[in-house]
Amino acid sequence: MEKSHNENSNDSNQVSSKDGSSPNNPSNYKKQSDKQSNKQTIFLDVDDVIFNSSEVVLSILNKKYNLHKTDADIKDWSYNSIYRGMTRMMVEEIFESDDFWSQIKIREEFINSILKDDRIRKGYNWAFVTQGNNNNLLKKVVFFLNQPEEYKEYFDSVEFYGIGLNESKNKVDMINGIQVDDNFEKLSNTNAALKVLLKNDRETKHNNYGCATEMVNRDDLYIINTFKELENILLFNLEERIF
Ligand SMILES: [Mg+2]
Repeated sequence: MEKSHNENSNDSNQVSSKDGSSPNNPSNYKKQSDKQSNKQTIFLDVDDVIFNSSEVVLSILNKKYNLHKTDADIKDWSYNSIYRGMTRMMVEEIFESDDFWSQIKIREEFINSILKDDRIRKGYNWAFVTQGNNNNLLKKVVFFLNQPEEYKEYFDSVEFYGIGLNESKNKVDMINGIQVDDNFEKLSNTNAALKVLLKNDRETKHNNYGCATEMVNRDDLYIINTFKELENILLFNLEERIF
């Protein structure tokens, strides 16, 4: 990971690292030279975009409460649709548990459409923008640092933005970038040039217009179901630079 940003660090986001940069710090030169490339940045959410997070939560809750729910039953990120009585604290506990982390995987779709496609992987700069409590964010960083050799170069180059659960993703400057998230609300107030809602073939209360009415009729929004569609958008954009 090129640089980790999280809410507890003094250098907590891209804006402050720019403002606070010192010419005497060699790492700033590296950052400036990176910015000279005219590659666009793709800002990716992590849970249910790169990770199979809800699949893991579903399996944990099915086992714990002896349920037989399927992916189609997932309707909300507090997972009350799976087990009524889930509280925010219970969800947080799952997202930092060893049980969760032993089952978390990088999704095949992400590997096939992004990591294995040289044009896409090398044609853009990459950033992960993800929310979680401190423990969860730390485990995410460690997970990405421990990826196989073949993808090491990619994960080493990614900028990681850890956002607290009570914060907004709009603290990250996404100007000229493309943001991908499975939650409408997280797309609604950032300054990304293009916002892509990835539905993963799910219908939840977080991916319909009801949760972000300001997103209706925007021409800077794409709604897609699969990574294959994102792959096509990103390839087309490399040739035409439409955003
Ligand atoms: Mg997500």
